[in-house]
Amino acid sequence: MQTYEGTIERILFDRTEIAEAIERLGRQIARDYAGQPLLLLGVLKGALYVAADLARAIARSPGGPSHLEMDFLVVSSYGNSTRSSGEVRMLKDTSENIGGKNVLIVEDIVDNGLTLSYLQALLSGRNPADLRSCVLFDKPYRRRVDVPIEYVGLVAPDEFVVGYGLDYQEKYRNLPYLAQLRSWVFSE
Ligand code: 5GP
Repeated sequence: MQTYEGTIERILFDRTEIAEAIERLGRQIARDYAGQPLLLLGVLKGALYVAADLARAIARSPGGPSHLEMDFLVVSSYGNSTRSSGEVRMLKDTSENIGGKNVLIVEDIVDNGLTLSYLQALLSGRNPADLRSCVLFDKPYRRRVDVPIEYVGLVAPDEFVVGYGLDYQEKYRNLPYLAQLRSWVFSE
């Protein structure tokens, strides 16, 4: 992206690496849910691209669910800062009842684990038939809770990252790659 160029410190995963990771996740998920219905539950806004790309990767893979539904919820945990507050706010809940369904939570990134852990506890209380989690980028260094993740795409460094759905102050989500920003951006 032209306007973002001077603010990028380095590209951590380019679009090909991200596409390959999603393709691999799609094959695993298609195999594991073969012949069963599946509800992909994307966590917005960050999982916007991964949920859409993963749904298509699952559809391209051999085997696969008998049918696939998609739903979304919206949470906020960072506000405008670069460290999670630990306080997760649900801004929009799912539109459908998840009771009795095979639910796969699709998250963009996990850092301290509080967001995903909050969602797992909330959703498991609604009696899904099965509840698993898929995360495209894992930052496993600062966990505050031990959170089970069945499907992990890529392990990212212990940095604040942007792109492929992830923002800094609502910008950079549309970068096709995952990047680290120059440090001066945060002091602007
Ligand atoms: P956690 O609660 O695991 O610390 O963080 C989960 C949420 O925080 C993610 O869904 C994402 O919205 C945000 N987050 C965590 N790490 C990063 C990061 O490096 N960059 C951005 N933009 N958001 C992050």
